[in-house]
Amino acid sequence: MRLVLLGPPGVGKGTQAARLGLRFGVPHVSTGEMFREALSQKTPLGMEAQKYMDAGKLVPDDITIGLVRERLSRPGVSSGFILDGFPRNLVQARALEDVLRDLGAALDAAVSIEAGTETVVRRLSGRRQCRRCGAVYHVEFNPPSEPGRCPKCGGELYQRDDDREETVRERLRVYMAETEPVIEFYRQRGLLVSVDGERDIDEVTQSIISALKEGNAVEESVSDGDS
Ligand code: ADP
Ligand code: ADP
Ligand code: ZN
Repeated sequence: MRLVLLGPPGVGKGTQAARLGLRFGVPHVSTGEMFREALSQKTPLGMEAQKYMDAGKLVPDDITIGLVRERLSRPGVSSGFILDGFPRNLVQARALEDVLRDLGAALDAAVSIEAGTETVVRRLSGRRQCRRCGAVYHVEFNPPSEPGRCPKCGGELYQRDDDREETVRERLRVYMAETEPVIEFYRQRGLLVSVDGERDIDEVTQSIISALKEGNAVEESVSDGDS
């Protein structure tokens, strides 16, 4: 299973990618997470990326594309991946085609998760992430059992710097200007699957899986028959 997840910041790409990765037994590959990990380890890549992330801008394509090419060339992704946060513009979308062609692989679908600005702003402002394992929660919509503590590993939950209001506004602007055209790119290739992201977390997961089945991206035998 090779999927790309598209949608505005905060719509639930990371949340759904983690679930789909477990469901299909393939890694969740998030460029945002790769940059945040590099940053927490203070690598040169992390320090360079931070300038853009703090401003709500895209990290330059040459850096991002190189990172994705390397990640998708590793053995762990030969049977598939759920790509979250990439591609974010048309240059990256074309580069992904090149990378996959070189690997002799092809996408099964590009899933666009849709929700209005009001919804994504509420989701971003309540988002909390575990410093240790990276798990993502929401203070209201997916609260941890003990506030501030990760139920999975006991790590500290924190709010991302770029989830502050000023940065959120810029990220949404960048999304509309640069990332939205990527949806049309995949529609033209017959790979686009759109789902309603306004519903709760479980319902969105179910509608993605059903939509993939309808599009024959999921073999019935792979499903566990709960839908
Ligand atoms: P969100 O979950 O809100 O969509 P991400 O975790 O995907 O945010 O990304 C956080 C930041 O990392 C972005 O605002 C951007 O600065 C950088 N980033 C992530 N993926 C890309 C990409 N494909 N191209 C350029 N920058 C990226
Ligand atoms: P993205 O990766 O698209 O930026 P996330 O998966 O990090 O989005 O989700 C953003 C926030 O919204 C998180 O706090 C997450 O727990 C919450 N969230 C995700 N999906 C839903 C949903 N369907 N309903 C309510 N809250 C959600
Ligand atoms: Zn944790």
